[in-house]
Amino acid sequence: MPESQPDTPGCFGAFGGVYVAETLQPALEQLALAWQSIGRQQQFRDELAELLATYVGRPTPLYRAERLGEKYGCGIWLKREDLSHTGAHKINNTVGQILLAQRMGKKRIIAETGAGQHGVATATVCARVGIECVVYMGSRDIARQAPNVYRMRLLGAQVRAVDSGSRTLKDALNEALRDWVTNVDSTHYAIGSVAGPHPYPQMVRDFNAVVGKECRQQIQQVLGKMPDAVVACVGGGSNAIGIFHPFIPDRQVRLIGVEAGGQGIESGEHAAPLAGRAPAGILHGMRTYVMQDDHGQIMATASLAAGLDYPAVGPEHAWLRDQGRAEYVAATDSETLAAFDDLCRLEGIIPALESAHAIAHAKKLAGELGADGQIVINLSGRGDKDLQTVAEAAGIDIQS
Ligand SMILES: *Cc1c(COP(=O)(O)O)cnc(C)c1O
Repeated sequence: MPESQPDTPGCFGAFGGVYVAETLQPALEQLALAWQSIGRQQQFRDELAELLATYVGRPTPLYRAERLGEKYGCGIWLKREDLSHTGAHKINNTVGQILLAQRMGKKRIIAETGAGQHGVATATVCARVGIECVVYMGSRDIARQAPNVYRMRLLGAQVRAVDSGSRTLKDALNEALRDWVTNVDSTHYAIGSVAGPHPYPQMVRDFNAVVGKECRQQIQQVLGKMPDAVVACVGGGSNAIGIFHPFIPDRQVRLIGVEAGGQGIESGEHAAPLAGRAPAGILHGMRTYVMQDDHGQIMATASLAAGLDYPAVGPEHAWLRDQGRAEYVAATDSETLAAFDDLCRLEGIIPALESAHAIAHAKKLAGELGADGQIVINLSGRGDKDLQTVAEAAGIDIQS
């Protein structure tokens, strides 16, 4: 098991790296340097801490889900990222990146978004600091996520439709990279997860690690010891690595990432590169496990949760899995919907469908750990955005 991070900059063992066109390499080097220097300055850290406290609403509570724990048969604790401003963990990263970009003298922020959560978090912070914001979004996602598109526009952002490929997240990411190549002097590209070329996987992890740092203290305060397991859903992997990272040296704590099992791993209709044992490959500037066919073509993914619907995973997760330090499993759409219902009915909390994947796995894990078991779950976001999807899955028309 790993004692510390691998030494090579930008690499997690055989994963990560900088697989981009030459035109982008200087921008990535500049960003890595800025993150090393500005990111460590006390003044930057103080300003970030102030915004996290007064604007984002940190620290978020660690909540004992007593009735859910009774039903599942073990102790369950929820780290309430759903209570953050804009309703998910993503804003921890956007606040950090945008403060950094401002100090680098950038005049413009671009971002990709799938369901619109990262786009909204980016547009929000851009409005707060007064900087231009352009969000790339697949036209298929624009049609599916109208409220978030309108939210971004209310916040003053320009939303640009992407009509290439499957017209979803991975195509939006490609288009944002293209914009960046052309406007690299004036523009910072704020990637929304621990994916992409170095330094994004490390930088985005460090911005989200505030979740794990708070949580590690909070759980020791209430339990007087470490939990048995920390569980989080994995799309690109930012909420999971954010809560895992401070626990990595605590070897007695199991770290479990839950990917989108869709219709089931056997069906092929899922978005679970790790649990589905996808081969290694290169996508979006990084080497990691990628769902691909025998010819290296990226496979279509399927999940009820738009935020998990991504064919690859952040390189640090690939490495943690191969090291045996973290485990990766999948929860299907139907298991997720059952867990979503449980949290609504038993705790009065409507979770994001992404986060409900982690709840679904906690149910299985509770059976394994027994009544003395203690599970911490990263409740990465709230479910307001998912009402339409959940209603459709239940065959209910909420408009009428
Ligand atoms: C975007 C999102 C995710 C998935 O992204 P990660 O980078 O894997 O964390 C999970 N939960 C919520 C609520 C999200 O908005």
